[in-house]
Amino acid sequence: MIEATLNTAQPQVDGKARLELCRHHFPLLRQRVNGKPLVYLDNAATSQKPQVVIDTIMRYYMEENSNIHRGVHYLSEKATEAYEGVRATVRQFLNAGDTREIIFVRGTTEAINLVAHSYGRVHVGKDDEVLISAMEHHSNIVPWQIVCEERGARLRVIPMNDAGELLVEEYEKLLTPRTKIVGLAHVSNALGTVNPVKTMVAMAHARGIPVLLDGAQAVPHMRVDVRDLDCDFYAFSGHKVFGPTGIGVLYGRESLLNAMPPYQSGGDMIKWVTFEKTVYNDLPYKFEAGTPSIAGGVGLGAAIEYLTKLDLDAIGLYEHDLLQYATARLSAVPRVRIVGTAREKAAVLSFTVEGIHPHDIGTILDLEGVAIRTGHHCAQPVMQRFGIPATARASFAFYNTKEDVDVLVKSVEKVIEVLG
Ligand code: PLP
Repeated sequence: MIEATLNTAQPQVDGKARLELCRHHFPLLRQRVNGKPLVYLDNAATSQKPQVVIDTIMRYYMEENSNIHRGVHYLSEKATEAYEGVRATVRQFLNAGDTREIIFVRGTTEAINLVAHSYGRVHVGKDDEVLISAMEHHSNIVPWQIVCEERGARLRVIPMNDAGELLVEEYEKLLTPRTKIVGLAHVSNALGTVNPVKTMVAMAHARGIPVLLDGAQAVPHMRVDVRDLDCDFYAFSGHKVFGPTGIGVLYGRESLLNAMPPYQSGGDMIKWVTFEKTVYNDLPYKFEAGTPSIAGGVGLGAAIEYLTKLDLDAIGLYEHDLLQYATARLSAVPRVRIVGTAREKAAVLSFTVEGIHPHDIGTILDLEGVAIRTGHHCAQPVMQRFGIPATARASFAFYNTKEDVDVLVKSVEKVIEVLG
């Protein structure tokens, strides 16, 4: 059905209309909430799943379920083939050089913890520095804080301006011989800022410093090429990219991964074990201890294939247009302030309404069938930087439309009317 929509839609309609046609691939979006048609604008928290992903997971459990890598029987070989096939799909999706560089993890959080605790513990020493930005998600702050505390090192922070753009000249000054690694969000989940990561990677590399990019909010919205970015590590979560929860990816440069100690240990990550000594497995298995989320992996593969067929360049253009429309419409509402006005933004519209707490906005919007997120978005330092406790955040995917934005704006106007 999806193939049919994609192929038959292609010759007659432009990219925008073609993407809107794909909305019906997402069964959850058809429901009503509080008696109103659902308008789902919480995609930065998690995105909805197309039928093809749901079907693939169901088929896996109905026809292929087995544990991978260890079995010689038919089902185990089928499940292994399916799971390892996804590794090849992810390699191609990120344009990594080799499948050995694709590590399956639970999500972005686990990917960053892996790098912090494996690479960080070896390379960060007393009086060294780890450099992150002022707009990181907690998952790219706390693991580094823990490593710095343990090692007697210091966490340094690249500041940003009032628009939510990183100050690249300040970044340059913060890159010193003490800096052992840089961790940066590709796209900010709280502000929507798209950071100039390619330039920032080159600046760090000029001083021999490796860079980890948190791609959780980038991968659903733009084409990512890890070799073009030249980053050393790149992390993303399956559930934000139209795949299932419980699966994510860490891309790592092979030479770095090879020299890193295991993060977790147990089955599958070993070649052989005696009570005296264990020899670890080769990449990528050295970092994949225990039974992974096999169904999650298979579902992620289906999601990436689906997204690739839709064309990420077309998605980027469509969402850019949608974000501009939403920004213009919401900014025109009296007392609304947009938080995060960077020149380069993707899919996220954070805002406050003067005199009304974001949680009240979220609750009233829910009564209108509009799902947004309110709070600190796991980026409390961003809230501190802007002097606010929280924001309301609408975040978009390619299945959202200008009509969704119109409902959002009308509902915000209603909030103001009701709460005054
Ligand atoms: N990094 C960013 C920028 C995010 O937006 C998120 C989740 O919202 C994460 C990391 C953590 O992702 P996960 O909870 O899937 O591990």
